[in-house]
Parts: sequence; structure tokens; C-alpha cells
Amino acid sequence: QKYVYDFAEGNKELKDLLGGKGANLAEMTNLGLPVPPGFTITTEACKAYLTTGREPDGLAGQIEAHLESLEREMGRRLGDPDDPLLVSVRSGAKFSMPGMMETVLNVGLNDRSVVGLSAQAGGNDRFAWDSYRRLIQMFGKTVCEVPGEEFEHALDEAKHAKGTQNDLDLDADDLRGLVDAYKKIFVKHTGREFPQEPREQLDLAIRAVFESWNAERAILYRRQERIPADLGTAVNVVSMVFGNLGPDSGTGVAFTRDPGSGAQGIYGDYLANAQGEDVVAGIRNTVPLQELEQLDKSSYDELLGIMARLEEHYRDLCDIEFTIERGKLWMLQTRVGKRTAAAAFVIAGQLVDEGLIDLDEALHRVNGAQLAQLMFPRFQLDHEFQPVAKGIGASPGAASGKVVFTSARAVELAAEGESVILVRRETNPDDLNGMIAAQGILTSRGGKTSHAAVVARGMGKTCVSGADALEVNVPAKKFTVGEHVVNEGDLVSIDGTTGKVYLGEVPVMPSEVVQYFEGSLEPEHVDNALVRAVHRIMTHADATRRLAVRTNADTGEDAARARRFGAEGIGLCRTEHMFLGDRRELVERLILARTDGERDDALAALLPLQRADFIEIFREMDGLPVTVRLIDPPLHEFLPPLEQLAVNVAVAQERGEDVAKEEALLAAVRRMHEENPMLGLRGVRLGLVIPGLFAMQVRAIAEAAVAVTREGGTACPEIMVPLVGAVQELETVRAEAEKIIAEVVGDSGVEVLIGTMIEVPRAALTAGQIAEAAQFFSFGTNDLTQMGWGFSRDDVEGAFFWRYLELGIFGISPFESIDREGVGRLVRIAAEEGRAARPGLKLGVCGEHGGDPDSVHFFHEVGLDYVSCSPFRVPVARLEAGRAAV
Ligand code: ADP
Ligand code: MG
Ligand code: MG
Repeated sequence: QKYVYDFAEGNKELKDLLGGKGANLAEMTNLGLPVPPGFTITTEACKAYLTTGREPDGLAGQIEAHLESLEREMGRRLGDPDDPLLVSVRSGAKFSMPGMMETVLNVGLNDRSVVGLSAQAGGNDRFAWDSYRRLIQMFGKTVCEVPGEEFEHALDEAKHAKGTQNDLDLDADDLRGLVDAYKKIFVKHTGREFPQEPREQLDLAIRAVFESWNAERAILYRRQERIPADLGTAVNVVSMVFGNLGPDSGTGVAFTRDPGSGAQGIYGDYLANAQGEDVVAGIRNTVPLQELEQLDKSSYDELLGIMARLEEHYRDLCDIEFTIERGKLWMLQTRVGKRTAAAAFVIAGQLVDEGLIDLDEALHRVNGAQLAQLMFPRFQLDHEFQPVAKGIGASPGAASGKVVFTSARAVELAAEGESVILVRRETNPDDLNGMIAAQGILTSRGGKTSHAAVVARGMGKTCVSGADALEVNVPAKKFTVGEHVVNEGDLVSIDGTTGKVYLGEVPVMPSEVVQYFEGSLEPEHVDNALVRAVHRIMTHADATRRLAVRTNADTGEDAARARRFGAEGIGLCRTEHMFLGDRRELVERLILARTDGERDDALAALLPLQRADFIEIFREMDGLPVTVRLIDPPLHEFLPPLEQLAVNVAVAQERGEDVAKEEALLAAVRRMHEENPMLGLRGVRLGLVIPGLFAMQVRAIAEAAVAVTREGGTACPEIMVPLVGAVQELETVRAEAEKIIAEVVGDSGVEVLIGTMIEVPRAALTAGQIAEAAQFFSFGTNDLTQMGWGFSRDDVEGAFFWRYLELGIFGISPFESIDREGVGRLVRIAAEEGRAARPGLKLGVCGEHGGDPDSVHFFHEVGLDYVSCSPFRVPVARLEAGRAAV
């Protein structure tokens, strides 16, 4: 088996095998760009190593052969004492995992080749010893698990002894001393000398990269990003180029467009006289890439040319890593770059304008999760709030919360339900847990490409980085900014778009995208690239999609808003909300009725109230279908809780008050108590047991429809019976309903459909029979999931889902995203058998899943007619339905 590929042998399509970094290094090599020669060890080799615990047969020999040919090409031998070839050993998985995996630079240096390296660089001892100390540091930390702080501490001490803050002030002797100190640290922690044999360094580093796939932080990141756990990483062995050779050398990172806003232009950071890690780690403050033009015009021009070429080749935003060695530019990495949600839309729009992609492709370049992010509220800043600092808007959004300084504290407070802002000088992979728990991240150092910025953008979390006015003191749990001292637990607000930092909690307002959906921003008149891009892509999604999108709405107000957001009807109008507030008393009367007369009176009192509710909704949804679900929850939900009632009665009796009514209520509550209310007297069962209840609701719906029609509107009611498990249930309810409808509707022209929810597994499995009696199905995927899995929705999420997620039993809660194989199969069966029995049967879904991107794709595949979701998710569902259709 072939485990090793020269860069010239690969290409960008081979990400599975060569990892993203390796595949793109190969692509750039084949484009003729200046890439230092090297080779890639495949993910197959990594997987073999991880399953068997040793390198697969043949790997060592293949590495040997590729190393030899690399040595020939470079005219140098790895670690040669007189003229050494040095290499980097770099991880690179299929999906980029920023800062998650390990990289070791300067492999091949030892006590002898360090002298040769100096000679190679024209007697530059400082450079040689700086490179050597970096090798021991990176190798020690990543290959041998020596605690990184010990090296950093020794470096700080050396700087302190020299009376400087800047590592560039350390001279060759200082660095030589530092190498000795590092070696002692190495021995102390590993019980062996730092390996002097170059090939052993190489092999150990390769193995460490393999093993880094299963490092705790890598596992956590994969889980968060839903990256499969069994892909493995490739390993890239790349001949070293040096950015730390002096002021005419340096290293940098760049984006071909602004990954924050999508704006065209050159975005990047450059650091002279440094090796790659320095930029990302935010060790020294970088300069904007534009300044490179002054420092080294020819490299700058070449870089711009290459960036333009990469964009055109990849037809997308690219990010790159480069190094300049004494005026010679080298490309060390490229990939299609991560971006904020706003940038994703803006860039997709621009690329269409530039003719690089078409609108279908533009739809693929954005997604519903990003759109949802753009609908987050913004800070409302018209009054007293003045920023106390301004950093870099690294990941947009508006976040406020209590300040915390450690990952552990962030996790703790978040678990108590607090919003927290994690404040650090800079973040590193160990902060990942805290970043996940926090509402936002604020750092005092580092640019748009720092760890904090990259990871926050990936998570869609608000982040301000490099707010250098902040003096962050982690041990003292405080930061100072100007004359303010901010302690742990104090409130701050950060704006990840502008980079501004505020003390206190700033109020928020709707985002521009929401204003656009609301209709208060006209895209044609708006000087806003984002709104125009959203408009354009949404228009295409609407033109493309086959699924209709309805909304779940119980009030006229919700219905109106959802309609502005593009809803094409109501898929679920719950009626129980209409039984609350001051109507509760009527419901009590209904429940406590001792005679038919009392019950009929209570129902008669409810009828006009319900009718008025429906009239309002039908008016707002004029001309569009409105699915009304008959009352669903167990009736005792409308009564006070047992304990409370018992106490009230006892207290009142004590005082000698008349408690006849309370006692009756108490008795009713006792009588109606259920061990498993979700499986008890609810849904259609109520309609079959309590005379007149469904009839009243049906009458209210029909009368409202007639009333709206009389005033010139068009009402299209669809009556939906919940919790049906057997066709006989539906038939009984339907017979009664049809009589009432016929009587009310008369010759008004109103048409009322009667259908059912499919939410009990038995209904799904007997859908063929049920379809005979139903004019439509609406999948209630919340209950279907609850009953399909036997999970009590209100109990399990907090109780043990974390463990299920940890064990990988499912990757996401089945209440959040539809379980395709199980619950989804029920949906599929019911859809097929229902349509077989009644061709053209209208099918929709009204569970929470209707607004979940992955689930929308599933419902499209299964052939449903529409999804229904909460008003705010309507645009998300429209977009995803469009994406599912292209
Ligand atoms: P990551 O995936 O964390 O970005 P990389 O493998 O890209 O890790 O390497 C870390 C840093 O080292 C980057 O800045 C990269 O540009 C730099 N680097 C890697 N290989 C070389 C090399 N052969 N010569 C010079 N710098 C390198
Ligand atoms: Mg790395
Ligand atoms: Mg990199």
C-alpha cells in the first residue's frame, strides 16, 4: 500500500487521503507556486497506527525513500552536521482543526548541525540557536508532553536577565544558554536526553502527530464541530524555510478577502524576523500585511499575484500562510478560508457578480445556521454607553455577561445558567471548554487570525480580540482599562462586529437582516452589501425550493410577523394557549361541571372567545392555509398543582372560610391525577371522552372562517386532530365535526379540511388506514420522537443526554435534529403508505424539527409538501429548503 506521496503526486481532491493541508500543498505545487518541497504521509497510515498501536508495514521504508529523494532535491541531508536539511512535521486532517493538532519545526537540529546551520546562514549564530531552542521547545511539548509553561518560564527568565521584554533582544549566547536550560527541562520530564539523532526526531514527531488525533482537545473540537472521530490525520514533512533569518525575513498569514465582512481587499498580519508559530500565538504584535509593501515590495507584489490566482483557482475566499526567507517568498499553506456568517453571504454574492460561481452554487456556499446567526440582535447604542476599549471585531454578534478569567470558571458559571464573557490575554487550545461555555470571548492580544478569533468564528461565538487597552491579570481575577478596574463577576458587553468593549449590560435591537425580513429595509435602497446579498440568495432559494414553509403561530401577531418573514400559511396553531389567562376560570367550570347543563354553559361561554381568536388569525393569514390543532394537553394542566391546592384548602379551613369550591377543585385534581400524563388523557382522547369540547372548537373555527369570508377575506382552515393512533378515533371525531361544519358553512363557500397529526408510532405504521379518513397528515415529530424512542422530552435532555452524546449513541439530540434512521423511518413509511391510500395526500411537519437545517433536507427527500416552524426560523427553513432542492 502506498502511504507516502510527494507534493507533486497529490491534488486538492485528495483531502480524505492527504488531509486538507497536504492536498492543498500538492495543489499549489502543481500550480507552480513556490512551495518548499516535501511529502505527505496518508491518513491511512495514521488510522493503521491508531488501530494497531504501531506503524504499518512498509511505512518506514517509504518514508526513507521519500526522504532520500527530498535530500537529493535539496542537495542537503537531514541533520547533516555541516549543511543540514531541516524539516517541519505538520499535522493536517481532512477538516481544518485550528490549533488542535501538533506541528514541530526545525526537525534535524542537534548539537552539531546547529553549527552547520549557522554556517549555512553566513555565520548567523543567533538564528541557529534560536531555531534549536524552538525545536527543543516544540518537540518537548508536543512529542514528549513536557509542560509548555516550563519552557516559556525559562524564556521569560532569559529575557528578564537581559532586561528586555522582546525575544529579539536575546543574542546568540543568551539563546545557547537557553538551549542548555531547555535540555535540562527536557531531561527532568522525560528521563532521557534530547534525541540527537535526526531520523529518530523525525520518526518520533510523526508518531506524535498520529497520536495527536486522539488528544483530548482534538476530540472535544471534533465533537463540537461534528467531525467524525475515525478520519485520522495526515502528516506533512516539509523542508524548512526560515522567517527568522533577520529583518529581511518574516512570516505571515493572509485572507484574500475580509473573513469578517466579506469586503474585497487584502487582509493579513505580518511579523518580521519570526517563525510561523509566532504569528498565530500572538507572541509579538503583528503589523498589517499592507506594511509589507514598504518592507519588501517585490515579495508583496508576488504575494498579491498568488492570492488573486488562488481565489480564481479555488473560486472562493482562501486563507494562506507564507514565509519570506531573505527576500524569497514561500507558500506554506492555503485552504478555503473560514468566514463569518455575514462574509459567507457577501462573498457568495460577489462571486456570482464576478462570474466565478452561479446562484445555485451561491446557495451551497451559505447555510441556515449562518442565516440564523445574522438574525441575532445587535447592541442599541444611542444612549450613555461609551466604549472603554476597541479591539478587533473577530467574530460578530453582541454579547454581554459576567467576566470570567479561566476556562474552568466559565464552565462553572455557565452551568448555573449565567452568561459569561471569557477574558484572556490570549487563548490557547486548553481554553476550548471555556470558549464553548462562554457567551463571548475577549482577548487583549492577537489579531483576526489569533487562536481566539479563528476558533470563535468557527463556533459562531462573539469575539473581540487584541483589545490592547486591557491589562488582563488572570491570577488576580481582574482587568484594568483606563481608570476602570473590572473584577470577576462584573458585567461587560462586547461587540464582535465593531470590536468595541463596554462596561455594563448594553441593550440590544434587531439586526439589519431581521429589519430586512420585517420589511423595514428595502434591499434596492440599502447601501448594505449584506442585506443585498441575503435578498438575492433568499430570492433564489424561494424560486428553487419545492417545500413550502409555514409557521407555528397561536396569535394574530405571531402570524403577521411570520408572514412578513415569508411564511406561506400556518402549519400549527395550538388552541390550548387560548384557554389561559382569564379564560382559565371558564376551563375550570368546564372541568368541574356536574351536569350536562353546567358543561354546556361553560362551553358556550368559551365559544365566542375562541371564535374571535380564529377570526384574528384568519385575517392575518388571508388566503393562506391555517392548520388548527384541536386541544391537546391533559386538562389538569389548566388546574392549579395538587400540593398548592391542598395547602390553600387547609389554610382556608383553619380560618373557618367557606371552601366548598376549593374542595371540589381539589377533588377534581386528585381524580384527574395521572402517573404518565403525556401518555394519558390528552389529544383525541379528550375529544372522545368530554362531550362537546371538540364540537365547540370545530364550531368556533367554522364560524370564524365564515365571518372572515363574509367580510371579503379568504379563510382556509384545516382542522387537525392530535394524538390519533387508530383510524377509528379519527373517524368518530370526523363524523361529528363534519355535521357541525356542514351546518355552519352552509353555502358560504368556505372549505374546511379535516386531517390528523401523525405523532403516535402506531399511526405511522397504520398510515394507510388512517389516510382513508384524513385529508392531510402533519407529522408531530416532537411526540413521534418522544414515543419512538421512549424518551420523556421534559426529563431526558437534562438527565442523561450528555452521556449519550459522549458515548456517541447519537451525535445530536434527536429532539433537535430528526433521527433519520428511526423516527425518520416512521415518517417515510407513513408518507408512502398514506399517499398510496390517498394520492395527493397533503403532508407537512409541525414539530421543532421543521426549523432545523438537517431535518429540512430530510423532509425534502421524503417528499413532504411543507415544513412548519417558529416565525424566526421561517427564513432559515426557506433557505434550507432551497439548498435541499439544488
Ligand atoms: P497549524 O495547522 O497549527 O497552522 P502548521 O502545520 O501550519 O500548523 O504549522 C505551524 C506554523 O509553522 C505555521 O505558521 C506554518 O506556516 C509554519 N511552518 C510549518 N512548516 C514550515 C516550514 N517548512 N518552514 C517554515 N515554516 C513552517
Ligand atoms: Mg498546529
Ligand atoms: Mg497552518
